[in-house]
Amino acid sequence: MLTRNPHLARLKSRYLFSEIGRRRREFADAHPGVRVISLGIGDTTEPLVAPIVAAVRERAAAMGTREGYAGYGDEQGLTALRQKIAEVVYRGQVAPEEVFVSDGCKCDIGRLQLLFGPAAHLAVQDPSYPAYVDSAVITGMTGDLIEARGQFAGITYLPCHADNGFFPVLEAIPHRSLVYFCSPNNPTGAVATRAQLTQLVTAVRERRGVLVFDAAYSAFIRDEGLPRSIYEIPGAREVAIETSSFSKPAGFTGVRLGWTVVPRDLRYEDGAAVHDDFNRIVTTVFNGASVFAQAAGLAALGPDGLAATRRQIDHYMGNARLIRETLEQAGFKVFGGVNAPYLWARIPGKTSWEAFDELLYQAHVVATPGSGFGPAGEGYLRFSAFAHREDVEEAIGRLRRVFAKPGS
Ligand SMILES: *Cc1c(COP(=O)(O)O)cnc(C)c1O
Repeated sequence: MLTRNPHLARLKSRYLFSEIGRRRREFADAHPGVRVISLGIGDTTEPLVAPIVAAVRERAAAMGTREGYAGYGDEQGLTALRQKIAEVVYRGQVAPEEVFVSDGCKCDIGRLQLLFGPAAHLAVQDPSYPAYVDSAVITGMTGDLIEARGQFAGITYLPCHADNGFFPVLEAIPHRSLVYFCSPNNPTGAVATRAQLTQLVTAVRERRGVLVFDAAYSAFIRDEGLPRSIYEIPGAREVAIETSSFSKPAGFTGVRLGWTVVPRDLRYEDGAAVHDDFNRIVTTVFNGASVFAQAAGLAALGPDGLAATRRQIDHYMGNARLIRETLEQAGFKVFGGVNAPYLWARIPGKTSWEAFDELLYQAHVVATPGSGFGPAGEGYLRFSAFAHREDVEEAIGRLRRVFAKPGS
């Protein structure tokens, strides 16, 4: 028999969502017939918009003809889609050849870890999207889990909390680190300002590191003054990779389509282009995104697709507003939910799991315990705006009844 990959053996069990499931089942067994509403999931709920469905239909029909059939395509994606992303998302700030189309941003995060290898030192926001840390553990970048701290040895965790406006102390970033940064942030809903991202780019450049900027929620930014891409920051092309996705803005969580930009200006110490290595990784362990997903992506970036997905994002942001107002009235301290589909809230004096249970048992509403995203998430709950409106309305009605303040 083979021995187990020691890096995989180091991973924590996927405790968060299994524990949520366990507590939900326990509640359901004790309270048969009570409908629990989840505002906890980071998955889209609204159907694909019409221009996208039409494009996939058309591509499927063409694939059934000799003339329209296509086999393997370029691993980096359709030229037309790379051009469209460069033009529509980046307004020409990146070249089409710098865009690698993929089956999603999470998959690209795994491939980026492969690119930098086990010797790289990771620095991450705490709390953060779990894939950054877990894929680094699998790649062998870390030591063992330090149980008492809930952190892996060999990773620099950058605490983000209310006191620092959910923006980390950049002096804590070690030299030559691979820095993961997500804005608009999952889970906190914090959106970094232009000044903050400028400081971040400067800090990573001074430390001769590489920044991986996760822009999966950039389309939720409505404030014109906030940057939607790291490439809006001068000098970013020499230090930053950006990874992004159609999943959240266009409901492609099941369709699967994302991309990663590796600028030609990003170099290793010896002057070699990181771009060429990423190209090698992509052509080795990936064989291109599905033709249907790419047709869907082209439609999502066309004028009709952009208009329709914008309305869908408006729907989610309307949910966020309703949830935010309700939580604030209920006495929670609330962050995020503006320019981001997540709200980060705390019931003063409670741990994440205590707050989770209170919400489940009293209002029959599920949110995600913040502690599941890293030690600095303790005390918070993440509320997601990805839901049908009627579920949000039902949930906020319950929250209002349960948390109504006397006299109000
Ligand atoms: C949902 C999410 C992704 C995943 O995107 P896919 O393209 O569906 O793989 C990436 N990053 C963050 C922060 C996310 O929340």
